[in-house]
Amino acid sequence: MDAAASPEAPPAAPPRHEFTATPETPKLLPRTIYGPEHEDYRRGVRRFFETEVYPHWEAWEAQGHVARDLWNKAGEAGLLCVAIPEEFGGLGADRLFSTIVMEEQGRVLASGPGFSLHSEIVAPYILHYGSDAQKRHYLPKLATGEMVGAIAMTEPGTGSDLQSIRTKAEDKGDHYLINGSKIFITNGYLSDLVIVVAKTGSSGKGSADTSLILVEAGTPGFTKGKPLKKMGMRAQDTSELFFDDVKVPKENILGAPGMGFMMLMQQLAWERLLIAIQAQASAEATFDLARDYVKNRQAFGRPVAAFQTMRHRMAELQTELSVGRTFVDECVKAEVAGTLSPVAAAGAKMWVSEMCSRVADQCVQMHGGYGFMWEYPVARSFVDNRAHRIYGGTNDIMKELISRAL
Ligand SMILES: Cc1cc2nc3c(=O)[nH]c(=O)nc-3n(C[C@H](O)[C@H](O)[C@H](O)COP(=O)(O)OP(=O)(O)OC[C@H]3O[C@@H](n4cnc5c(N)ncnc54)[C@H](O)[C@@H]3O)c2cc1C
Repeated sequence: MDAAASPEAPPAAPPRHEFTATPETPKLLPRTIYGPEHEDYRRGVRRFFETEVYPHWEAWEAQGHVARDLWNKAGEAGLLCVAIPEEFGGLGADRLFSTIVMEEQGRVLASGPGFSLHSEIVAPYILHYGSDAQKRHYLPKLATGEMVGAIAMTEPGTGSDLQSIRTKAEDKGDHYLINGSKIFITNGYLSDLVIVVAKTGSSGKGSADTSLILVEAGTPGFTKGKPLKKMGMRAQDTSELFFDDVKVPKENILGAPGMGFMMLMQQLAWERLLIAIQAQASAEATFDLARDYVKNRQAFGRPVAAFQTMRHRMAELQTELSVGRTFVDECVKAEVAGTLSPVAAAGAKMWVSEMCSRVADQCVQMHGGYGFMWEYPVARSFVDNRAHRIYGGTNDIMKELISRAL
């Protein structure tokens, strides 16, 4: 009997896709933020994303998350927690190296791995606010990929208005008892360690009552939903988390009770810049694909790129990309110098994520019907990049923050 026709035959595994590099579009201005040591590092990171990540996009989209061992491989290759000091297992590098990891992920348009959230948000909370014991216990495990990190703020009833969260961590003397649920949590399904934003006080002032508590997977009462079915970023694990009488020792608190909001605010500038860095890199990669496509696609006896409307569209897009690139690079420089303001980061997040959507939309158009086909990276880029305008604080909230400073 034909195995393929047998009802017992397992479904065929999605194919592996080889990465083909697209010629990079000449830049309007040279970049000046990197030195040779950064470019050396970039070569290894590039190889990792081309060989260990890109080929699996279809398989990972089908299951709704990346392979668990990708995390261990990334740790081994030196891609995780690069800015965490060496004594805690990181590379002790500056954030230009972190930026390279995000740029190279953007270059292959892989929205599956939640590396930046793990390395650039979760680990820094532990580094900056954790006790010595927390740092020594968790950071090396996050750096090797033995543990996957997540941060759980958003709840079914509230996202932008973080002070209204309802998840509670009741003080029971020697432990906290956590009850509540979280939604849209990146790395949630594969997470081993979650920073849970919960209310520990009842003063009625949301900011003073909020704390950050470390909860490990496997703690009784802590359960995970299946990865949510999203319109884009389908290989990224985004899940619901449930806390039902979860008992955690008092020493699992990060910093001190009631300090959660202050800690969240202090880290926001970098967290928002991360989104701009990723959006910028993927907008550039999407444009490279579209430019290459119209140079090779023929219509009316000539390459589509030869039509003036197409050439002018490309001129507009490349100029927009250059504006974004300059803004992002200046913000990265400021971050490395320790001077990045939350307002500049909010501006970068807002403008670059909007620009990225405009560019991706035009790049779909440049591909004609093929741009609407899922197997074309430009189609995936179009929907994947839509999320940048929503998470990390929606762009409406970014406008609120910027306008308050004016
Ligand atoms: C792919 C993905 C990954 C995510 N990962 C995480 C994660 O790892 N951890 C986590 O905690 N959360 C995560 N989120 C959640 C994300 O941060 C929230 O969805 C986002 O902050 C918006 O919250 P909300 O969905 O509750 O929308 P709401 O806050 O309900 O907003 C609904 C609409 O109202 C607007 N709005 C709200 N308040 C104002 C205001 N003051 N002024 C003007 N307009 C306003 C918003 O801009 C939006 O358009 C993720 C979301 C997605 C899509």
